[in-house]
Amino acid sequence: MISDNSFQSNQHVIINSLKNFLSEQNTKGLLIPIGGLVLVSILSYGLYTFLNLKQQNELLIQNLKIAQSSLLEQRGQNINLSEKVAEAQNIVNEYGNKVGEIASTVGNLQKLAETDKQLLEKYSKVYFLNENYIPKSLSNIATSSLYKKDKVLQIHTNIKSYLEKLMGYSFQDGQSLLVISAYRSFGTQSVLKSAYKFNYGLGANQFSAEQGYSEHQLGTAIDFTTPKVGETFSGFSKTPEYAWLTKNAYKYGFILSYPEGNGYYVYEPWHWRFVGVELATKLHNEGKYFYDLDQREIDQYLLNIFN
Ligand SMILES: [Zn+2]
Repeated sequence: MISDNSFQSNQHVIINSLKNFLSEQNTKGLLIPIGGLVLVSILSYGLYTFLNLKQQNELLIQNLKIAQSSLLEQRGQNINLSEKVAEAQNIVNEYGNKVGEIASTVGNLQKLAETDKQLLEKYSKVYFLNENYIPKSLSNIATSSLYKKDKVLQIHTNIKSYLEKLMGYSFQDGQSLLVISAYRSFGTQSVLKSAYKFNYGLGANQFSAEQGYSEHQLGTAIDFTTPKVGETFSGFSKTPEYAWLTKNAYKYGFILSYPEGNGYYVYEPWHWRFVGVELATKLHNEGKYFYDLDQREIDQYLLNIFN
């Protein structure tokens, strides 16, 4: 006989088991859809995030490209601008140079206009300086340099310092150079010429009166002598003083006007003319003589004759 207790106990176990089963079944049944939902959510979120990021990334790349191209454009504009600035600067510089050139040309022209063009003119047997010509300014030569101490001899004021240097350095070198003739006015020259003509007849034309006639009237020609040679100039070309002049006079702007064998006048070793240091140096270095040069070539040295 089955007791009621045993039956009840069995029934309770069964119910409990059923409950457990049911509850287990319920949980399992819920887990699957929930899990699926979570998975879908995660995937969706991931996809969403991925798509979103991708979109953002593309946007970023696009913006970057825009920024880059705008930067390049800006740089291009900058380069263009600096080119324009450089161009403008060039124009300004060129203009400045032109202004400078013009100013210097004007300055040179003014200097040339103020410089006596006659000072570098060639005077020959057939071409004389105008009889009315008088140098702008004349100065007395120091008495110590004169052959005749009781005379007053004058030269062009602008060459005074050059002559003084020549005399000073020649004296330092042991020479006894003296000035016997310098500036001569047209009147003085005429008187001198007449005197020579009177003394020597027509032969006078060949040596003194017309020799260097114009050059003495310019105030830039000097006749040198020595105490021994004196007034006749005889043998001057054989003196050490002449040799010294040949070697050094150019340094002070003086040149021998009428060398031996020239076609303009007879040989005058004592007669030296100031033509400026620049031209005198060129002539000395090239072994040329003033009268051999073309007048146009000579004129280029007029601007700096007293430099
Ligand atoms: Zn002379």
